[in-house]
Order: sequence, then structure tokens, then C-alpha cells
Amino acid sequence: MKKLFIKNGRLLDPATGIDGKFDIVIMDGRIASMTPPGKGGKDTGGEGGEGGEGGKGSEVIDAKGLLVVPGLIDLHTHLREPGFEYKETIESGTAAAAAGGFTTVLCMANTEPVNDNGSVTRLIIRKAADAPARVLPVGAVSQGLRGKVLTEMAELKEAGCAAVSDDGMPVTDGGLMRRALEYSTIFDLPVISHAEELSIAGEGVMNEGEVSTRLGLKGIPNASEDSMVARDIALAELTGGRLHVAHVSTRGAVELIRAAKKRGVAVTAEATPHHLTLDHGALKGYDTNFKMSPPLRVPEDVEALRKGVADGTIDCIATDHAPHSSVEKDVEFDAAANGVVGLETALGLVLKLVDGGVLELATAIRAMTSNPARAMGLDAGSLKVGSPADVTIVDLGLKWTVEPSKFRSKGKNTPFTGWKLKGAAVKTILNGKVVYSRAKK
Ligand SMILES: [Zn+2]
Repeated sequence: MKKLFIKNGRLLDPATGIDGKFDIVIMDGRIASMTPPGKGGKDTGGEGGEGGEGGKGSEVIDAKGLLVVPGLIDLHTHLREPGFEYKETIESGTAAAAAGGFTTVLCMANTEPVNDNGSVTRLIIRKAADAPARVLPVGAVSQGLRGKVLTEMAELKEAGCAAVSDDGMPVTDGGLMRRALEYSTIFDLPVISHAEELSIAGEGVMNEGEVSTRLGLKGIPNASEDSMVARDIALAELTGGRLHVAHVSTRGAVELIRAAKKRGVAVTAEATPHHLTLDHGALKGYDTNFKMSPPLRVPEDVEALRKGVADGTIDCIATDHAPHSSVEKDVEFDAAANGVVGLETALGLVLKLVDGGVLELATAIRAMTSNPARAMGLDAGSLKVGSPADVTIVDLGLKWTVEPSKFRSKGKNTPFTGWKLKGAAVKTILNGKVVYSRAKK
């Protein structure tokens, strides 16, 4: 029996409400027991017990002074494989995930070929079989992401997709979105909405406001997102389908989601670390590392997003990890691709919000563990006995500086270069196996 013993750590599991000192025993990839420090008996293999620390074949991690949380879950990652391996591969992307403390990532369907059928889904799952993070593919809503014909959702589900989304593109046709949400109730596949009304976004490349005017760049108004979120909520209400709103960026969308939840609509939502920490003022140097979709909004939007996460309206924090090469980014602002990498900076940025009093620690961890698991119906995100042993060990006091050259991701396109952060994953454990250990300085 393979055994791992994590002792002396502060365990924080928002799913069960546990926050305190516990020793954890992991056997054969599952949580076998949790006991107060040093209290583990023979049968649980705790310290001092025959099968405990000194037991044969057991590995011991001393987590004294460290925080032990469920493995982080990212609902929004672009792994780029198949088709864009020069930007990222399943191997490099999952290495970045593990280094960021993530044990599960959902990968978006806008690859080449598009993940709109079971064979592409199976290819991704096969390639990720030995990866240091669990990869759950998201299938496309429409064939080829063209927004015309629905995919075979039964086939996608059967092949292993966890959700469906045309992310990168909105589902422009409301009738198609209605049917996708209807099918989501049959196939139990949540529909993830990239909420953007393209006819309103037009040729905008950043938020529409005083900064875009000053820079002479075309803007995207909040109405582009607000109107689509309103439509998708109305359709979720009509169909009873499972809607998850990706990368919320506007105060209007937060209000719509808050009101919908009050009415009992089955809607969940996510915000990204970059939308929670940056506003449109960051673009003044025309740096394409700040170009993303949806764009960075005004400070009032950032404030509304923070409040939304704090009160649970925004359930999840997701990275929208979108690696690009210099070919797409080292060009003039108008021509540059949208997107930033996020897997290796997310936890540090979220802990900065905790440090600044914006979020409670438990709320932040919940938004990165049990809430994403619940939104997608995953058997993950908790350390209760019997659950898969996906564990992230965090050093809340570890100070570090964001240096893209050190990223495991092939993508170096981050807006956070040089930021000084405090708090990082020091060990990531997937199915009871240590898949990442942070090098000591
Ligand atoms: Zn998107």
C-alpha cells in the first residue's frame, strides 16, 4: 500500500468547514484519515502508530507552519494542444498548473482541431494520462465553434468532457444557446458562457472609457458583456439548464448574477485574478500583456467583482490561462492576440487580496476548490476522508517575485512581471503522489 503522511499542518477545507491542526494519512491515492497532531492510532497510521511515520514505504511531509488545502481547481485553462503546441502543450501547461498549486484543470475547446467530438476529447485525455494535473476537457457547444450546429453532447460526455463551451467565441445565436442549455439538463454538462455581444464589442481592443479615448484605441463598452449575461440568464431560467458565466468583468454582470441567484436560477460564475487586481489604467504603455478578452475595466467594476467574490455571487476564481508566443504578442496593440497566462500567478495574486483584507482566506480557498468542483459536479475540492488525495501545501509567508522566464508555461505573456507576492504552493499532491515541490532558496 502506498502511503503518504502529512503532519503538523493547518488544514483548511471550506467544503467541510474544517480549519485547524490535523495530520493527514493518504493511502492508495485517497484521504484515509485526519486526526489531531500526534493522535493517530495504529489503524490510522498516525505518528507513533506502527503503520505511521516510521512504517515501511511511507513518505512523510512535515507541514509545520504551512497551510494544507484541497488541490486547487481551475475551470478555465487553454492548454492549446492539439494544434498550437508552439504556445503550450498538455505537458507544459499541466507542469505550470502543478507549480501553481492546481491539481485539476478544465481545458477549453478552441484547439485545432476543435474539441467538438469524442475522438479529440479522447486524444486530450490520453495525452494527459501521466500529467501532473488532472485534465478535464471542455467540449464545444457548436461544431467547429462556428455557432451554427450543436455538437453531439452525449458523445462528448461519454468521451469524458466535463462541460461544454465555445469559449473564445460567444454563442451568438440565442436559439442555439437555448438548445445547448436544454441538452445540458439531459447530459448533465454545464454550459460555460463566454458572454460577449460581438455586434456591440465591434472592433474594440480595450475597455471603452477615458483611457481608450486618451490612447486613441477603440473601446468595448460594458454593455457588450451585460447584455449577453442577461440573455444567458433568461435562457437558463427558461430551460432550467446549468449556466456558468466565464470571466465576469463588469459590475452590471455581477448584479445580474446576484439577482438571478436570488430567484433560484441555476447559474454560477467565475472571475479571474487579473480582473480582480487590475483596471484599464494599466494599459497606458500600450503593453500587449494587458490585452485580454474581456478587457480590464474601470475601478468600480474591479470593486464590484471583489465584493461579488466576497459575498459568493461570483463562486469561483479561474485563471483564463491563455498562453501566446511572441509572434502574437510582440506586435502593435490593435493586432495583438487577447489573453494572459495565469496558472503560476493565480494563487499568489489571490493571497494578495487576502493579505489586503479584500477576501477572507476561507472564501479565497473556497473559490479555488469546493466551489469550482460544485459548479461542474466534480468529485474533488475537499479533503474529507475517502475523497481523492489532491492536496496543495501553501506557504503563506513565502515572498517571491513574478519572473516570466521561470514559468513552466511556454507562455510568458503576463501583466504581473516584477510584482512582489507573498504566498505560494510549495507542494502539490495529485492522487496521493507529490507532483510538484518548490525548490528551496
Ligand atoms: Zn472567454
